[in-house]
Amino acid sequence: MTQTGVGTAQLEAKSPFELRANLSKDVSESVVKRALETGEMGFLHSFTTGSTVDGPGVRLVAWTAGCHWRCLYCHNPDTWNMMNGMPVKLDRAIEELAKYRHGLKVMQGGFTLSGGEPLMQDRFAVRLFTGAKAMGIHTALDTNGHLGDRLSNEELDLIDVVLLDLKMWNPTLHVRLTGKEVGPTLDFARRLAQRQRKIWLRYVLVPGFSDDENDINQIAAFAAGLGTVERVDVLPFHQMGRYKWKELGINYTLDDVQPPGPELIERTRSQFKAVGLQAF
Ligand code: SF4
Repeated sequence: MTQTGVGTAQLEAKSPFELRANLSKDVSESVVKRALETGEMGFLHSFTTGSTVDGPGVRLVAWTAGCHWRCLYCHNPDTWNMMNGMPVKLDRAIEELAKYRHGLKVMQGGFTLSGGEPLMQDRFAVRLFTGAKAMGIHTALDTNGHLGDRLSNEELDLIDVVLLDLKMWNPTLHVRLTGKEVGPTLDFARRLAQRQRKIWLRYVLVPGFSDDENDINQIAAFAAGLGTVERVDVLPFHQMGRYKWKELGINYTLDDVQPPGPELIERTRSQFKAVGLQAF
């Protein structure tokens, strides 16, 4: 992908685990405010192409900067601060997307907006999805769902599938794990289901944090009850983002946590399968 945005940094990342910081440090507060209000500009951590794990088919993924959650296991803490992202004008981003439209269709894929939390920049997200749909590109939003209220029903209809990250059922433990309450995410899931929007549920499995059998059973029952969950992806915890915490000087508390073993992964998948869901 060609250079997009400002400065000398390339927007395309070789991997989603590239550390990026301060790319918007020269953007004034008033420009940021206007960008958030209008969606004329977004703040992106990076683009990656050729993903096969962020929605159906082969995907072009734009990773937004900005997240108001603080998940203990976050592997991209450089996306927490919007100012770490690169300012990218909407028309420039859509131009880039246009270059890939034929390829994405041939590969039965599409465009995924991920993060960070994309709905921190809801107007930019909506305008990107509008542009993608106008080109006939399949759209996916990867979100923790907490800011789902920012999208109108009509705007939800621009999104072909929502990759919904549900982190934990127990409300107290959810706050401990993410820094935020789980209720708005569940409300957003219910709303998506009422609108008959497809959901792919994502569940990060962290030994000692999100592996409680009862908690997972509650999530599975909730997901099955929605009626529009097409699949569940159990994502095993890994330590690939640990170095970012260290580089950014943030206290990382999961140093001693090991990735889940095959038995725990299989047990978790089978809990979702037991309620009739497809789980991978
Ligand atoms: S919601 Fe995602 S980006 Fe935000 S802190 Fe959690 S894992 Fe990181």
